[in-house]
Amino acid sequence: MKKAGIIIGMIILLLVAIVFFFPEVLYSSALGQRILMKLEGGQVAEFHYKENQQEKDTIYMKGVIYSNTLKDIKQALSENPSITTLVMEDVPGSIDDEINLVASLEIRKHNINTYIPENGMVASGGTDMFLAGKERAVHSTGKLGVHSWAGMDSVALDYPKDHKEHEKYLNYYAKMNIPLDFYWYTLEAAPADDIHWMTSKEMEQYNVATDLYDSLLDVQEKLASDAFKGRGTGNNDEAQELIKTHFENAGLLQFDNDYDVPFTFMDEKTKKERQGTNIVGYIKGKTYAERYIVIGAHYDHLGIVNDTIYNGADDNASGTSALLHMANYFSKNQPEHSIVFAAFDAEELGLHGSKDFVAKPYIPLENIVLNINFDMISRNPKNEIYVVGTFQYPQFKPAIEAVANKSSLVVSYGHDDPDDKTKDYWMHSSDNAPFFEKDIPNITFSEEDHPGYHKATDDTEATNPEFYINVVKLIKASIESIDQYFPYSKQ
Ligand SMILES: [Zn+2]
Repeated sequence: MKKAGIIIGMIILLLVAIVFFFPEVLYSSALGQRILMKLEGGQVAEFHYKENQQEKDTIYMKGVIYSNTLKDIKQALSENPSITTLVMEDVPGSIDDEINLVASLEIRKHNINTYIPENGMVASGGTDMFLAGKERAVHSTGKLGVHSWAGMDSVALDYPKDHKEHEKYLNYYAKMNIPLDFYWYTLEAAPADDIHWMTSKEMEQYNVATDLYDSLLDVQEKLASDAFKGRGTGNNDEAQELIKTHFENAGLLQFDNDYDVPFTFMDEKTKKERQGTNIVGYIKGKTYAERYIVIGAHYDHLGIVNDTIYNGADDNASGTSALLHMANYFSKNQPEHSIVFAAFDAEELGLHGSKDFVAKPYIPLENIVLNINFDMISRNPKNEIYVVGTFQYPQFKPAIEAVANKSSLVVSYGHDDPDDKTKDYWMHSSDNAPFFEKDIPNITFSEEDHPGYHKATDDTEATNPEFYINVVKLIKASIESIDQYFPYSKQ
């Protein structure tokens, strides 16, 4: 027994000596890395399925990427070719960057999607792997962290931009179709021993999450489905409920303890009094809480006419879904000004919702510094969107132009000069009109009429997703720029 004790003691001593004199043995071997992680209270990356998981199309990952990760991924994918999604629950980094990039390429090669779930946390080398997903999504409570890297006695920013140390990362991001700006941004975002958690705005800017506009399209499709009965005023409860749910999820505030703002109006055709309901919520501004930008879009359409449902996918399920998208966006990126989100009813019957809004506003009209309106923004054969109102309010044109210059859209200005006889005058045609008549600056985004205009063929199938998404990006960036650098002095 004594002899055995001595031998074990000597083996331990030998191991300690090896680790002491050749620490790279520990760092570079899978076993050593496993031990290291354990000592640090962490764990190396492991792949698993959930208990009771019916379909094995989703695999879960937890832990630090290490020298065996490539092998593990290859094994998982070959054992189970039906995997489509890698859920990264908690992947704080990597202790083997070379392997990480190769393993990540393997993920892209198999067209796997990546997802950071509720309360998930992915950072550093984990973020690089996340970017390998073909489609990438982050839950609203999920976190994605970035930082710079450091060598033995130098940090990334010490190297000139064209140094080969940067190359492997730049090559990797190029392969992943991530703008190369992203790499330089990560070096500035936080030093190597710290982490910067990306904001939703940054995730959008750097194309980090690909799904940001999925729900824009989904919601438009839903609003324009037959179940919503064409959203005719008086028969559009489903649309109201959907809008309110989105407002609630975005955490919009209510003016009078309710998002519903019912109103009555005279129906011109029947000469009868009718009911409509605007849905209104707002976000308080950071700097100018008492100054309001009102973003409006009508959600009503023609309803059912002679047993035919007029779905109004473009007019104006497109604008309504864009409104909800922006409510969600600005609730996560607090604006300088307060922003009111108004889904107007009874536009098709004579702009009654917006007329009611300015007739009995919850906020003094002089506190409304701008109205932004969108009506029909999801299809145009010429890839052209009109910005209407800069003839009267030229102070907003530079901000919009700056954004438009970076867009692939054909951005045209017009329909707002009463003396231009070559174009219809639109200043009185949509929900911007009541604001215009009260001398409130207003800008409308809209396409020129298309063959589906006020026809039963205005369906989601005719939507051009790329055009629609680009228009929403244009409007959002324009609002953001105007909100931050509001041209007060020029008014
Ligand atoms: Zn319309």
